[in-house]
Amino acid sequence: MGSAQRSTGLRDPLDGLDPEQRTAASAPRGPVCVLAGAGTGKTRTITRRIAYLVRHGHVAPTQVLAVTFTARAAGELRARLRQLGVDGAQARTFHAAALRQLRYFWPRVVGDAQWDLLDGHKLRLVGHAANKLKLPTETEVLRDLAGEIEWAKASLVGPDEYPDVARARRRDIGQPVERVADVYRTYETLKNDRRLLDFDDLLLHTTAALEEHRGVAEEFRDRYRCFVVDEYQDITPAQQRLLDAWLGGRDDVTVVGDVNQTIYSFGGASPRPLLNFTRRYPGATVVRLERDYRSTPQVVEFANRVISGARGRPAGTRLRLVGQRPDGPRPTFAEYDDEPAEAAAVARQVRALVDSGVPAREIAVLFRVNAQSETYERALADAGVPYQVRGGERFFQRPEVRQAVSALRTAAVEHRGTEGAEAPELPAMVGKVLATVGWTPRQPSGGAARERWSGLQGLYELAEDLTAEVTAVTPGEQPTLSRYVAELEQRAAAQHPPTVDGVTLASLHAAKGLEWDAVFLVGLADGTVPIQHATTDEAIEEERRLFYVGVTRAREHLALSWSLARSPGGRPHRRRSRFLHGLVPETEIPGRARRPSRRRPGTTPVCRVCGRELQSTLEIKVGRCVDCPSDLDENLLERLRDWRKAKAKELGVPTFVVFTDATLVAIAEQRPRDVRGLVSISGIGATKAHRFGEDVLAVVDEVAHGGQ
Ligand code: ATP
Ligand code: MG
Repeated sequence: MGSAQRSTGLRDPLDGLDPEQRTAASAPRGPVCVLAGAGTGKTRTITRRIAYLVRHGHVAPTQVLAVTFTARAAGELRARLRQLGVDGAQARTFHAAALRQLRYFWPRVVGDAQWDLLDGHKLRLVGHAANKLKLPTETEVLRDLAGEIEWAKASLVGPDEYPDVARARRRDIGQPVERVADVYRTYETLKNDRRLLDFDDLLLHTTAALEEHRGVAEEFRDRYRCFVVDEYQDITPAQQRLLDAWLGGRDDVTVVGDVNQTIYSFGGASPRPLLNFTRRYPGATVVRLERDYRSTPQVVEFANRVISGARGRPAGTRLRLVGQRPDGPRPTFAEYDDEPAEAAAVARQVRALVDSGVPAREIAVLFRVNAQSETYERALADAGVPYQVRGGERFFQRPEVRQAVSALRTAAVEHRGTEGAEAPELPAMVGKVLATVGWTPRQPSGGAARERWSGLQGLYELAEDLTAEVTAVTPGEQPTLSRYVAELEQRAAAQHPPTVDGVTLASLHAAKGLEWDAVFLVGLADGTVPIQHATTDEAIEEERRLFYVGVTRAREHLALSWSLARSPGGRPHRRRSRFLHGLVPETEIPGRARRPSRRRPGTTPVCRVCGRELQSTLEIKVGRCVDCPSDLDENLLERLRDWRKAKAKELGVPTFVVFTDATLVAIAEQRPRDVRGLVSISGIGATKAHRFGEDVLAVVDEVAHGGQ
């Protein structure tokens, strides 16, 4: 089939690449690193590189192993490769690749002993471990423990080393590190006794099989010669070790990534291998890309501003993206009273986009945590907009899908041999089989029926997609039913559901690497973005990168919104995300304009840094949002504290009676020059100005003139 395909005028793999992308795609075999921002064509470059190496006979498709982050991304890689005429290259997630290899090598390494995947029962097993140790077993606690065990395993840290490493890395899940280590140890024992493997074990055992069994390593390395890793900035030590075991000292590896999109550090991932790639492979071809092909200049400009606020970015990663597409609408911002109001408004806008001709599958609503999904599912259903929830990994377990796949399998066997030029087109054949399990060409009404239908419709559309792909590569050729069923089985194994025509609802994490014409970033309130439990500087920065990942998914329309309360009538205690400070033109918030101010005009205190209305007493006191950058004079604050202490002592009163901490901070930030400046600070009335004004102004003046 290969030569037949080649003679039908397959595209040159370097077609439609810019010079830098070409350099990376056409580099000779050996190490290649593409370090570049979002939407610059990294993923496109690696698919073309694989096609290039195959086309030029450097490597056979079956000798290529490409790894990426999500099952969906792996599926897309496979589809793109197929379009380029490369059939048979493996594209998987690290876990799926390891699972497959382990299944194959297990009998040789371990013998007959069977094992099962601890899939979905992890929390229960962590619960058993905690129970055995007579520790609390509330779900939240167990979830934290399970997460921490995952981190440890991904970081190649065993239970015995855990306490020291955890202390050194300041891990904190609110429990003593020794206790976490005990749970970890007990969990491992229970799991091993039951012959179960968790996801992290897949990587660890496969690595061990390759490292410790020469025969296994030789067979593997003979089979796979060329490795490609997408999203390399988020590799964990366990994954890196597996990659090294795959390579076995060879250097045929292409990695691509963007340090500014590192979003799994909490799980043990690190961009260091990406940044250190050239140190490890001094002869590597290194390419940097700056042209953003995905998004309009308006979206690119906003994305640049979002990431420019990041702190502690490694040198060399401060690339500014340059938008390549024609102009588009500016990003929009909206504030709502509560979540249902926000969801309803978003659903209305989605509806309007669909009505104006944007396909539903080209629209996404992205949120920080999956719990936010439901409100949007309901709002979209009310607005009559079809949707699909990303992370639909259980797609192939749905009863109607299982039933349909089984019917399709039977039909494929029956059809074998009768397929030829006269056979009906694949979608027609698939449609006929699907009709036997209840599929209709038109969407039925009613929630449950629609849900069931959407699964079957996904299978039908996959037949259409496959036909389109095959005929694009080899005009006149039809995919057979058997080939379609093989595709289904591959997808089921890789947990890669077909795309249903509907708006995507997904978490920011799950949206990585993907793109849509229109993206709605919702729930952008502090406490959600950044998430409440992000308390350290590093955790906040990771949240900022996550927000950046969300922003950079949009090709054209980008809508950002947040709400002030969770439910209607609830206390409006939320505020918009700190990551938006300074980025939102205040006049462009429709929700804000609607709401009448509770204060008299002209008296509304506003932040002197970002200009937005201040909410809490503390903020009004310091004259800025609590999270806006402070221009505090530390030396002055120190001197003011000394003065306050002395004064309080002199008057025989507690210090706060003189001035509260917040007032001192406000003075140290605003450095008033005269009594007028002093009384403009909230918390300093005429009485205090009269009693302490002179002293305070003297301290300010002294420090301003360098006096100690
Ligand atoms: P991310 O960091 O988000 O994963 P990426 O760098 O992998 O982004 P791609 O997904 O490969 O970017 O490309 C982004 C979009 O730009 C895709 O739609 C791709 O087809 C398009 N694109 C990439 N390179 C070019 C090019 N040279 N000419 C035209 N379009 C391009
Ligand atoms: Mg990509």
